[in-house]
Amino acid sequence: MVTAIITAAGKGSRAKIKGNKLLEKIGDKTVLELALLPFDYNERIDEIIVTANEEYYDEFSEIIKCVTNTPVKLVVGGETRTFSVLNALNECNGEIVIIHDGARPFVTEELIDACLDSVATYGSGVACVPTVDTIGVTDGDFIRSTHRSDCLSIQTPQAFLLSEILEAYSHVSDGEIFTDDAGVYSRYVKPAHVVEGDKRNVKLTFKEDFEKYPDLYCGTGFDMHPLIKGRKLILGGVEIAHDKGLDGHSDADALLHALTDALLSAAALKDIGFYFPDSDDKYKNADSRLFVKEALSMLAEKNLKVKNASLVVMAQKPRLSPYAEKIRGSLSALLGVSENSVGISFTTTEGLGTVGREEGIACQAYVLLERDRDLLKMP
Ligand code: MG
Repeated sequence: MVTAIITAAGKGSRAKIKGNKLLEKIGDKTVLELALLPFDYNERIDEIIVTANEEYYDEFSEIIKCVTNTPVKLVVGGETRTFSVLNALNECNGEIVIIHDGARPFVTEELIDACLDSVATYGSGVACVPTVDTIGVTDGDFIRSTHRSDCLSIQTPQAFLLSEILEAYSHVSDGEIFTDDAGVYSRYVKPAHVVEGDKRNVKLTFKEDFEKYPDLYCGTGFDMHPLIKGRKLILGGVEIAHDKGLDGHSDADALLHALTDALLSAAALKDIGFYFPDSDDKYKNADSRLFVKEALSMLAEKNLKVKNASLVVMAQKPRLSPYAEKIRGSLSALLGVSENSVGISFTTTEGLGTVGREEGIACQAYVLLERDRDLLKMP
């Protein structure tokens, strides 16, 4: 029988992320889920124990529900990693234990298998990769010696016979700090056996590590208003010389309405009509830049920022290309992004349909948002 222990009791304070880095999402899953699932899918794993910090016990209880093929439970961690692992080891039912860091979400089933195969042959199996950088031994300010050929970067998973790793831990004295289990095992039992690790199996430690996995959301919006005499034509917050203007409750800036809907849609919020109903007198002849600003502040509450926007205006007349730079400038100022992040194009519909008959102007907008990972503002 094989027990997997996923260590997740650390607070990850080095990542400078508010909350717990294991609760950060990569794509649609949290780091912890990604670290758990390969163990759940691997048929050689009979039970999973997750060490958790008391502070995050409830959140982790929810997350481990993603494990559906394997019995799973949470164990409250201790003061240090060493104590947390020991707590989990005392709960193991397997005669083989495979220990994995919850902050390594890219572990593969193949690597799990390789570590378990190594235990069967050598009694232990520790995932390691060659070091890319030369390792220096220093006294803090000066390098005393350098090494590379005899150094390995040690990853997890690390698999052991339960009896041997418990034996190793029984020798650990108070105040003795180990950053991994191979260290404890090699110190008190025997040298642990090297398994070829995987360079992709990185540990997410610092906020920079998360920057490679941006949390992105796209959104789309569309709007069309009728063209009538006696109204100003405003598109993208820019007044355009024409003998007709767009009709509507607000200033009828269809381009900004499409943009507002794209922003709201990317954040899975409701649409412009819900937040700014045309039944509300407050919005009578309103400057539509207000809607964009309000939408942006709703996004800010979700830590969402605009990466770029791409928009199309469909109008038979007037010719809008002379206004391209002015509209682009207006949109980039409004969105708080550089002009290089705003694309705008204009098209007629070659005389076809409502737009072609100059009865109205239609606009389409796309946006891409990125969620800021709630980084602590350092003083
Ligand atoms: Mg509208």
